[in-house]
Amino acid sequence: MQFTHEHREMQKTLRRFIDDHINPHVDEWEAAEMFPAHEVFRELGKLGLLGLTKPEAHGGAGLDYSYSLAMAETLGHIHCGGVPMAIGVQTDMATPALARFGSEELKAQFLAPAIAGEAVACIGVSEPGAGSDVSAIRTHARKDGDDYVISGQKMWITNSLQADWICLLVNTSDGPAHKNKSLVMVPLREGGKPVKGFEVSQKIRKIGMHSSDTGLLHFDEVRVPQRYRIGAEGAGFVYQMQQFQEERLWCAASTLEALNNCIEWTIEWARERQLFGAHLIDQQWVQFKLAELRTEVESLRALTYLACERYVAGEDVTEWATMAKLKAGRLNRLVPDTCLQFWGGMGFTLENRVSRMYRDGRLASIGGGADEVMLGILAKTMGMAKKPR
Ligand SMILES: Cc1cc2nc3c(=O)[nH]c(=O)nc-3n(C[C@H](O)[C@H](O)[C@H](O)COP(=O)(O)OP(=O)(O)OC[C@H]3O[C@@H](n4cnc5c(N)ncnc54)[C@H](O)[C@@H]3O)c2cc1C
Repeated sequence: MQFTHEHREMQKTLRRFIDDHINPHVDEWEAAEMFPAHEVFRELGKLGLLGLTKPEAHGGAGLDYSYSLAMAETLGHIHCGGVPMAIGVQTDMATPALARFGSEELKAQFLAPAIAGEAVACIGVSEPGAGSDVSAIRTHARKDGDDYVISGQKMWITNSLQADWICLLVNTSDGPAHKNKSLVMVPLREGGKPVKGFEVSQKIRKIGMHSSDTGLLHFDEVRVPQRYRIGAEGAGFVYQMQQFQEERLWCAASTLEALNNCIEWTIEWARERQLFGAHLIDQQWVQFKLAELRTEVESLRALTYLACERYVAGEDVTEWATMAKLKAGRLNRLVPDTCLQFWGGMGFTLENRVSRMYRDGRLASIGGGADEVMLGILAKTMGMAKKPR
């Protein structure tokens, strides 16, 4: 995949915004365990960066997925994982199904403000009792006249302490687990106040991704019109699995520059650090380890670009997106861990960027499908394991 002049210009615009308006505040937002999503998204919206692949009719740019990938790559220059993840939720995790299968009315009401940066979005799949096994979710929507009445809990929901709406996976019938689910758009706050029946029961504290807010959400008889359902009733599981493809590609792409930066910072440090009468970088062990890591990152880039190219060509990229996500998870552990070692005690301090990556990057093997879930999908695509009926 080749980036064009347009891709590069978009990346330059984003990079300037990151350098001038995000990175100077990252330490403060990490300490506060929250970043001002509305403020940041409004500016990204003005730059046209929240709807690159979304329909022009609703304020998007109508570009192909390679632009989303290029954007995710550049987000890797943010000096933490939490803010890029929050942006990725808005662009590539909470909105793809809405854009693809939502009615025009839903897109006008929910997608357009998300693209403009006027609304913060979140995606609600995981629950206290169901993460890897999405089919086991318990949150349900009972029909009452023209409405759904929704009750249940959602756990680990990124952006949820600030979000205006959630794209919610719920059971809309008692049928088989892969055919009884729907994605429903649910407003969470109106005029800054939670809607009736909704509350954040806990702000979850984490070992990393500090600037990103994560909530445990409680829905008690929350009422929305049935027309807020995305697409066909009972198709939610399939839509969510498709939506995961963009989430997983995004996850792989967003780590590439971040991992390379981690290696670069470590090279800079090793050039300065003196021990045993030489610089740390003069140790061949250090040189070889860092060279190997760079090779791993560029292999991930090649895999991610290949997946993206095929996705843009309209192919089913489940296998490739899964491999890219798996490899991204592995490298997000290997690269910061290996680099941190070369920083010695400095690597064990909280303020160090590499130590932040070590903590933030750990999520990549868990969120959006754990490594083992990726391996399970690959085992199925390789014909070694049974597919669900
Ligand atoms: C910071 C953060 C942000 C998140 N944001 C969101 C969000 O915005 N929206 C949302 O819906 N969810 C979100 N998640 C949830 C995330 O997707 C889940 O944590 C993830 O899918 C794993 O589910 P679980 O935590 O329930 O672990 P479980 O499903 O209980 O799995 C535990 C472990 O079991 C192992 N395992 C799983 N399946 C298999 C298998 N088949 N074979 C062998 N071992 C296996 C894995 O090691 C896995 O880590 C977020 C999570 C975190 C931590």
